Amino acid sequence: MTVRTRIAPSPTGIAHIGTAYIGLLNFAFARANGGKFILRIEDTDRERYVPGAEKIIFDAMHWLGLDYDEGPDVGGPYAPYVQSKRLALYRQHAEELVEKGNAYYCFCSQARLTEMRERQTKEGKIPMYDGTCRKLKPAIAKEREKLEPHVIRLKVIREGKTQWDDAIRGTIAFENSSIDDQVLVKSDGYPTYHLAVVVDDHRMDISHVIRGEEWISSTPKHLMLYGAFGWKPPVFAHTPLLRNPDRSKLSKRRNPVSILWYQEQGYLPQALLNYLSLMGWAHPQELDKFSREDFIANFSLDKVKTTAPIFDLEKLRWLNGAYIREMDDSDLLTELSPFTPKGMTPTLARRVLPLVRERIRLLSEFNDQTEFFVTRPEVPKEEVLSQSKHTGAETKQKLQAFTGGLGKIKSEDFKAKRLEETGRSFVEKDWSPTRLFMTVRIAVTGKTATPPLFDTIEILGKKETLERLRDVQNQLR
Ligand code: GLU
Repeated sequence: MTVRTRIAPSPTGIAHIGTAYIGLLNFAFARANGGKFILRIEDTDRERYVPGAEKIIFDAMHWLGLDYDEGPDVGGPYAPYVQSKRLALYRQHAEELVEKGNAYYCFCSQARLTEMRERQTKEGKIPMYDGTCRKLKPAIAKEREKLEPHVIRLKVIREGKTQWDDAIRGTIAFENSSIDDQVLVKSDGYPTYHLAVVVDDHRMDISHVIRGEEWISSTPKHLMLYGAFGWKPPVFAHTPLLRNPDRSKLSKRRNPVSILWYQEQGYLPQALLNYLSLMGWAHPQELDKFSREDFIANFSLDKVKTTAPIFDLEKLRWLNGAYIREMDDSDLLTELSPFTPKGMTPTLARRVLPLVRERIRLLSEFNDQTEFFVTRPEVPKEEVLSQSKHTGAETKQKLQAFTGGLGKIKSEDFKAKRLEETGRSFVEKDWSPTRLFMTVRIAVTGKTATPPLFDTIEILGKKETLERLRDVQNQLR
């Protein structure tokens, strides 16, 4: 059997972090088994459709390096990979089921269905279609179908159980009596998810459907459809759902869910994938940090745990920092280019990098931490005084002396070591090193946390440093 896996996201406007997670597992499983990984766009729910959203998904997957072998933008032998371009196929398959007596036309109005559901809910029952049109004579239904708005429903087998051997969870069984006569084709002519997913997974020779646990209750419907068509179903594997640290379902309110957000914040794709690998799966050597190839080599579905994996942004940041620290300067500078402060030349970026690389966990922090090198900060005098813990006049006097000391150093000697020696000569009893250097730090950088002060001053250069120090003195009296 050739392994073929797929993800089938819907273009609703964002590329969801859950799609990255499911994508990674499908990708890894396909790669581990010499198979193919496919991207299909499921856009039959026209109410949720956002034009252009497909591209957001493609871009996110390419950024992550989850390269699919077949998909709308890369083509493939089973094209088209977009459901809205396959409508005739679904209709044809639905009609085939009606012909075979496994599906039927339903003419019930929305008003009737709503009334029926309300009644059932009031009676404490689970709302389900009551089967009115199931009883219509096929010949009569066929006539009405030409004239009246209708849907097509699956004629669910009422007796017995539907079960499958889930590759992650073992046997899962549902009583057929709990399964509704699922709508397959809506009144707008579009297929529902259930019909389209089954037709496409079959037609695209998908061997393993690896998807989130929120689809478990759909699987018996899908299996019934496979049965009705007389097709062999794929292997199903339902992954756990990512959770917030408070164990609630991963949601926008508590955790960013858009892949683009992670990209914009300066997470590295390899760190994000590594972190996602740890969701519900553990490396055999208990490693936290490992490559995608290592994951592929060790991954198997039966090792995926179903206990809710916690997606913790703090841990991800830590891991991202670890990836940043191990990159060489050139690679890191390439990654940093979108996060480099405006006006910073590549040469300057290369000089400041060693000062901050140990301190950044996100690429975007590079901008925050180095912007002062190219943009002279506005430093309110209150902030200077809160560091100096002296009066304005005393602080001014100290900074003047300090500035004078630095001013005596020749430009070509304006180096960290020399600067530090000079700086230290201004330390006295009530101007401890911390107090003095924090005062100077805020004066020249506008920040209380920066790379080592004298390395920073060396890069700023003599002229710029002295000007910044004088600007601050001019505010003090
Ligand atoms: N279109 C579904 C989604 O948005 C696909 C679910 C499945 O994998 O069957 O996730």
